[in-house]
Amino acid sequence: MKITCNIIKDVLPLYVENMLSDDSCIMVEEHIEQCQECKNYLNEMHNLTEIPVDRDTTPLVKIKSTLRKKKIQTAILSIMFSIMLFVIAIAFLTAPEYIPYSESSVTINEIGNGSVLAQFEDTVYGYDINRYPTDDNTGYVYHITTWNSIWNRNIKKSNVNNTILNPNGENVISVYYYHTNESEDILMYGKDINPSGGVVTLPRLFLTYYSLMAIAFAAICGLIMLILRRNKNVFDIMLKIFLLPVSYLLGQLIIKGFATSSYTAIRDFFAILLVMIPLYIAFLTAINLIRQYKINKYKGR
Ligand SMILES: [Zn+2]
Repeated sequence: MKITCNIIKDVLPLYVENMLSDDSCIMVEEHIEQCQECKNYLNEMHNLTEIPVDRDTTPLVKIKSTLRKKKIQTAILSIMFSIMLFVIAIAFLTAPEYIPYSESSVTINEIGNGSVLAQFEDTVYGYDINRYPTDDNTGYVYHITTWNSIWNRNIKKSNVNNTILNPNGENVISVYYYHTNESEDILMYGKDINPSGGVVTLPRLFLTYYSLMAIAFAAICGLIMLILRRNKNVFDIMLKIFLLPVSYLLGQLIIKGFATSSYTAIRDFFAILLVMIPLYIAFLTAINLIRQYKINKYKGR
């Protein structure tokens, strides 16, 4: 029987695995010495068998590292949500509940040498004082309000200290108590600066401007993403920028709802930022997780 190339090719897998008898081995080696085609075939088989050896370990390492990455990302996601819930709870519990004017909640008295003292009742948890000079620059007009909170009533009772309105000896022309419903301020001390019309303290509006800017910014980013959606790199970067104003707006919605004018705008702004930051990190992490999931699904097919 003539030993054909086909016979050699049939037994080559066994030869590669060292499973042939010595006689057969010699037969294969003798044939390969003279036959370039079978020699090439053998080399190819060597290459093929060598690669899986490498592949056996790398995917395992890869799977391990992706699993670890996924674990870390999931952990980050839950930490960010915990921080967000914590901030929202604190913001809700300490939200000012304004105390309507009563003679006792705050009293204004001169205490000698021109100092004017504001004394607060025990139920007052916080207060706000605005002041501005009068038109003729003879002194200052003060506007005061007081508040309480769920936190103060139920969790930690702490009342505010009395405070001197004019520590540097400023001339106190008048002191008003203001409400947060845009009703007329109530004169508590001094002379009425506007006897004919009444004085009203208005909420601050800068959160409204910030929200409008965030909406405009998000719209511009959205537009760029729409135009350049085929360029994956640009789209990815724009998506990350787009999520900044979106996170801010969601923070605003969670902390203040649709009301953007506020009597405690600075406090609200910081609360919004404290929600926005973990929310933004959570968004970025979620995008990575979803992308990972899609890649795995694609590979699995
Ligand atoms: Zn051959």
